[in-house]
Amino acid sequence: MTEMTLVPRRDAALPEMRVNRHWIGGQWMEGAHWTERHSPSHGHVVSRSAAGTEAEVETAVAVARAAFDDGRWSRQPAKARAAVLLRVADLIEAHAGLFAVIETLESGKPITQARGEVAGAADLWRYAAALARTGEGDSFNGLGPDILATILKEPIGVVSIITPWNFPFWILSQKLPFALAAGCTCVVKPSEMTPSTTVMLADLLAEAGLPSGVVNIVLGLGQPVGARMSAHPAVDMVTFTGSTAVGRTISRIAADNLKKVALELGGKNPQAIFADADLDSAADAVVFGVYFNVGQCCNSGSRILVQEEIAEAFVAKVVALSRHVTFGDPMDPETQVGAIVTPEHRDRIDAHVKAAQAAGARVVLGGGALDVPGLGAQFYRPTIVTGVTPDMAIARDEVFGPVLTVQTFRTLDEAIALCNDADYGLSAGVWSENVHTCLAFARGVQAGTVWTNTWMDGFPEVTFGGVKQSGQGREIGRYGLEEFTEIKSVVMRI
Ligand code: NAD
Repeated sequence: MTEMTLVPRRDAALPEMRVNRHWIGGQWMEGAHWTERHSPSHGHVVSRSAAGTEAEVETAVAVARAAFDDGRWSRQPAKARAAVLLRVADLIEAHAGLFAVIETLESGKPITQARGEVAGAADLWRYAAALARTGEGDSFNGLGPDILATILKEPIGVVSIITPWNFPFWILSQKLPFALAAGCTCVVKPSEMTPSTTVMLADLLAEAGLPSGVVNIVLGLGQPVGARMSAHPAVDMVTFTGSTAVGRTISRIAADNLKKVALELGGKNPQAIFADADLDSAADAVVFGVYFNVGQCCNSGSRILVQEEIAEAFVAKVVALSRHVTFGDPMDPETQVGAIVTPEHRDRIDAHVKAAQAAGARVVLGGGALDVPGLGAQFYRPTIVTGVTPDMAIARDEVFGPVLTVQTFRTLDEAIALCNDADYGLSAGVWSENVHTCLAFARGVQAGTVWTNTWMDGFPEVTFGGVKQSGQGREIGRYGLEEFTEIKSVVMRI
């Protein structure tokens, strides 16, 4: 049994239930149908949201198309676009407290992490504003005395943005300000489970001076809303973050009219810990990486590979640290691990752990749902599973919960091979004091991001994305802006 500290329900005043409507052409639109979101931790209805149909998508796409084609945004000087994005960043910061509370109540994540997410999102808007003003192309003047050629990078057009529930405001901010910086217009669909912060942003966009129709929000389920946003012939690009299964569906739908698709999908991210590593730092980072966002994180460092001679001692360190994780009411700033997003997902996590046990793995910490006083049992114990072999489902599938698996290796080559024996390729990590080991690992491993002697260090400047089943395309950084541009070659005989 675990001994971690439980944080019972705190006696805090909670905000009133939010009512979320579609936002199209700068107007709020009622829904024909509605859904309710119950807080994973507190059980009450946090928000009631319109559930759209294909009809709202048709209207939103038509509005976004018209807003793109009339140039009210795309032909603005970059300086003017940047000024709007900067005002949005300021407004997000001014309203950060409420954004974080709503995010916590809808998702179950700890309030301190929701605050970090909102602050990070504001920084993304500010960074995208700076990037907006760097639009440059190449020119060629060696093609002949009477020839000049130049490359223009133009906004790709109307972009459908579809986001997941786990970092609703952060992921929106990895996409939307970059699309806007490039000059695109957008139709946005947040997850039906966590729509509120996306809807709250609408007021801030209007206040910041974004012309109406440039951003439109349609609420509802993936089918029909997301699917129609992916299929619509007047949409030029779909950018999606979510599960690999839905990413594949979107890719198939979008292929019918060959629109561009950028996909940020699941992960099963390995960290190799070598005997010569700073083991205390590595253990701290492993614990942070697996419990962050209740383990429901594409970048969860949930699969550690430990060099054989230190495996026992290192696992003992991680288990000891995990026992000190505070666990419970996500509204309490002391809490490090909050609630699981739905009861069904908690049961899926448990099924993974039980299947691993049945296949011969050993649960050395946790395992099973946990009842938090005053909040119920939509929680899962921080869990560590050893004796995991590469063929077990728990070593290959995205568990998406506070569950760490441990495998062992002997050599650098074996560590790289184990990392690459995976369908996913989002991120990977290496812990060693030997620079050769770190560099050889970074070059050998199939992943969009490799962290060496750190985990989940992210910066708006540093591009992010996955390979293999973790996706295609890149976000944030300079390449994050370029994703939303189309290249036009202009050749002039003069
Ligand atoms: P999900 O795939 O279930 O849903 C994501 C979004 O897609 C939601 O808005 C949903 O309504 C919509 N959707 C569902 N079916 C659709 C369809 N047929 N057509 C169009 N849209 C549809 O994912 P989730 O549970 O919200 O998020 C968790 C997943 O997201 C995990 O796999 C996680 O790894 C991944 N994720 C990846 C990253 C990354 O950057 N790579 C970041 C965060 C989350």
